[in-house]
Amino acid sequence: LVSNRQPYRHHYEGDGSDGDGGRSIAVDNPVGGLTAGLDPVMQRLDGTWVAWGDGEADFAVADEDDQVAVPPENPEYTLQRVRLSEDEVRGYYDGYANQALWPLCHTDTCRVRFEGDHWRHYREVNQRFADGVLEHAQGGGTVWFQDYHFALAPRMVKTAEPDAFLMHFYHIPWPAPDVFRICPQRTELLDGLLGNDLLGFHLPRYGTLFMECVEEFLPEATVDWGAGEVHYEDHVTTVRSFPLGVDADDIRQKSEDADGMFEARFRHEHGIGEDVTLALGVDRLDYTKGIPQRLEILEHLFETRPSLRGELTYVQKGCGTRERVPAYQRLRDRIEDEIDRLNERFGTDDWQPIVYTTKMYDHDALCGIYRFSDLALVSPLRDGMNLVAKEYVASQVDDDGVLLLSPLAGAYEELSDGALEFDPYDTAAGADAIERALEMDERERHSRMRTMRRRVHEADLPTWLDDVLETAGQVRATRLEGH
Ligand code: UDP
Repeated sequence: LVSNRQPYRHHYEGDGSDGDGGRSIAVDNPVGGLTAGLDPVMQRLDGTWVAWGDGEADFAVADEDDQVAVPPENPEYTLQRVRLSEDEVRGYYDGYANQALWPLCHTDTCRVRFEGDHWRHYREVNQRFADGVLEHAQGGGTVWFQDYHFALAPRMVKTAEPDAFLMHFYHIPWPAPDVFRICPQRTELLDGLLGNDLLGFHLPRYGTLFMECVEEFLPEATVDWGAGEVHYEDHVTTVRSFPLGVDADDIRQKSEDADGMFEARFRHEHGIGEDVTLALGVDRLDYTKGIPQRLEILEHLFETRPSLRGELTYVQKGCGTRERVPAYQRLRDRIEDEIDRLNERFGTDDWQPIVYTTKMYDHDALCGIYRFSDLALVSPLRDGMNLVAKEYVASQVDDDGVLLLSPLAGAYEELSDGALEFDPYDTAAGADAIERALEMDERERHSRMRTMRRRVHEADLPTWLDDVLETAGQVRATRLEGH
């Protein structure tokens, strides 16, 4: 398995001042839908996970080949860490991945930056990861690449090791040809991804757009639309959709464990009165998540429905992300300024319209917060899937809450029967949707939530994994027959 983010990161704790003369090393699990979802998968599969070693103590605990057995307390598989220099991180990660591919694939063309240096580092780092893979995949094997950080590595591995079976899951949307056209490296990116035998997206729509781009920008390739395949340079890439799910049983268990005391403590900690209705947003502070738009909707709500003042508090749980990229620094400042302004405008001595917290909650606590939140506001401007929406649903063990969900999130395809549509671009309609959620009777709430919960449990993480691996097995068998 190959991903940018590693499932375990080692860091130093303390400063040695306690007299033992040294610092101890501790481990944490980086936040993120992708790694959080795949660690249990790898624990079941027992392979090698190749990832960027970005923790300060990562190489102190790894062996001479930069490998470490994880999970640390109960090792099940090998983590192969890749060392990246500061320049490489700036070029490959902050640069090409997050200032070119991320906005490009989210169709945010105004934020896209293509810089020669970024591209050079992206190519070089893809080669480093490909080399790391090749050390473990000699003579074949199956390699599973994750995401947009590695669009080039599949071609590099395929060229060196044609017998390896390569699969790739692309966790973000794919843009329309007219958007992809602006990318100077469009041919190289398509060529790189077509080194895979199987290429997966969350939604059929993204796969279709990918194949449209192939038809338009790689004239040597042929798309077989009926079979969902691309034929290119004597190689076939099968394109399929696999909507990622969450570990719904685990989330249900964790939220069942969260008791009334937990809720009382949380409300007390944030100064939220017992009778105040609680709306929740949980996001990485990314411009695709539509947080400023959500705040605008809330402002409109409190402005046009003064009776809700004192009755409803919105909790924005945020977590910092890609903070060296200027667009993200600006976004964070903007969100914090807006929240201050709204609290100033509407807040009273004993009530705040918005509570903002960047405190890290572990997954158990997060499930508890989801459970007792009356509403969840999920309003991305574009999102490949959005696991927060599914986590909220899986936590609603009492079927009491209401999910307000942007139709621009991939998750909307599966949850539109139960969620209320929450369009980040339509402020008045967004405020109406919150009002409707607040007024919804218990029967409707339960019925909508049950419908969504059923879906989230049916299409959960283990099902997703089975589906991906079964398809991989079929594709692999077909390729072998073909030889
Ligand atoms: N998350 C978290 N704390 C936060 C924000 C997010 O633990 O403050 C987790 C969240 O529970 C989810 C993941 O990060 O599992 C976010 O996944 P999603 O698909 O919603 O968005 P992404 O961040 O991958 O774009």
